Amino acid sequence: MMDWFDDILDAVLGFVIPRKWWHWPISVGIWGMVISIMGVLMEIVAHGHVPQTMGQHLSVTVTMSSPFVVFALLLLVRLNRQRHEATLMAAKDPLTGLLNRRAFLDHLSIQAPGVLFLIDLDHFKSVNDNYGHPAGDQLLCAMADVMLGLVRSTDLVGRLGGEEFAVFVPGLSMVDAQALGERLAQGVQNDDTFPQQPVTVTASVGAIKTGRSYDVTTLLKIADRALYQAKEAGRARLVWRSYRPELAMNKAGTPA
Ligand code: GH3
Ligand code: MG
Ligand code: MG
Repeated sequence: MMDWFDDILDAVLGFVIPRKWWHWPISVGIWGMVISIMGVLMEIVAHGHVPQTMGQHLSVTVTMSSPFVVFALLLLVRLNRQRHEATLMAAKDPLTGLLNRRAFLDHLSIQAPGVLFLIDLDHFKSVNDNYGHPAGDQLLCAMADVMLGLVRSTDLVGRLGGEEFAVFVPGLSMVDAQALGERLAQGVQNDDTFPQQPVTVTASVGAIKTGRSYDVTTLLKIADRALYQAKEAGRARLVWRSYRPELAMNKAGTPA
């Protein structure tokens, strides 16, 4: 209900919060002037006349208000930084540092045409069973590093949950997409966690090329279908499916 108020407050704060060192004297000066002018107006209302020594009046109020203005601005800068960090944290998966499911899907909905890969590690449960959960966690982080190493920093890499990841690369040619998908399906090998015996975990990958406009929910369903086929066909492989926009209209959401 108060969204409009938050928007206005954000706009005002975005304008007044100092972001560079040289913003500080300007901000303090502007706020000092605002306070001084309010002081003059109050004097006019209370006594019915403009103070005669206007220069003195302004310099005294600016000097007196400066420490309070600086203090208030320091508080605002700190609060703003905490809010920024909280926003970043809310978008990240705490284990791997990748985008979490919600943030990945949010970003995906505003992307140009490209290729979406859904990646699920194969028989990952047995890694936990054989080597323990912490070792499994390390392998998930290692897989995150592998994926980040394969794409540009502007591409999307997320952990959708458990041992399921997603990568979206805009503007990728089919040849490059095939190579990237096959590399993703090779999964990850981790020597650090398992010194005696390096463990390799492969991945099943479902891939789909997006068009100019697409519905994210439908896209995910189709990619998930491709991923399922990759599992069924024996895992450690890449399976493609094509995006059909008309499926977005299918409320039952059961792509063929
Ligand atoms: P499949 O090839 O069919 O995908 O087999 P799978 O064993 O990978 O799949 P399944 O869904 O049976 O098991 C997924 C496992 O992933 C079970 C769960 O313990 C593990 N897992 C999920 N999240 C985490 C996590 O954050 N850390 C660790 N270590 N394991 C996790
Ligand atoms: Mg799995
Ligand atoms: Mg899974």
